[in-house]
Amino acid sequence: MEIKKERSLVIIKPDGVQRTLIGEIIHRYERTGLKLVAMKMVVPSAEQVERHYTEVNPQWKENVGKKAIEGYKSKGMTPPSEDPIEIGNAVVDRLKKYMTSGPVVAMCFEGAHAVELIRKITGGTEPRTSDVGTIRGDYVLDSYQMADTDDRAIRNLIHASGDTEEAEKEINLWFDKDEVINYRLVQEQMLYDVNLDGILE
Ligand code: ADP
Ligand code: MG
Repeated sequence: MEIKKERSLVIIKPDGVQRTLIGEIIHRYERTGLKLVAMKMVVPSAEQVERHYTEVNPQWKENVGKKAIEGYKSKGMTPPSEDPIEIGNAVVDRLKKYMTSGPVVAMCFEGAHAVELIRKITGGTEPRTSDVGTIRGDYVLDSYQMADTDDRAIRNLIHASGDTEEAEKEINLWFDKDEVINYRLVQEQMLYDVNLDGILE
């Protein structure tokens, strides 16, 4: 795969839509130079949500559990369980409720280092500890503690692919081949051209 054509899936989750942050979120990614190559608004089914999280990455349940346990321990708190898989199973059920509660906006961005850049701009999973300047850090306040207390998913506005392999599978899950558009942006010359020899007359 050509490096300039790396792709990542972004989903503005139901809370991002309800908080009227669609424009702001797209703007944050778009202004880096990444190119929007697919976009649609849908109300996902529970089955789609389950496939998105569990089918794309078989390690996901365990990872999600481990991250939650670390999150609690870093705050000197006791996690609700020491078993990552148990936490992972509970999170899937909560995500089904969260992600099917209203429309979401699914998008595919393309460009050099798309996956890594989008994760950087998005911020860490738990908004309480996401860096300042990231979307999750700037626009929302949720935490593991809040989510567990109310038995719900963490509301963090966005899904962003975790790595390039995950990205490819996720894009196939959300978009038909002909919904992802190959086209050129004028600004790509400025981002990628080797000699910048097309400017001066
Ligand atoms: P990310 O979205 O940062 O890649 P994960 O893939 O680990 O995070 O988890 C997917 C989503 O599940 C998170 O964005 C969040 O909405 C929710 N989530 C993760 N861990 C928990 C948890 N311990 N409790 C509730 N919801 C969680
Ligand atoms: Mg993830």
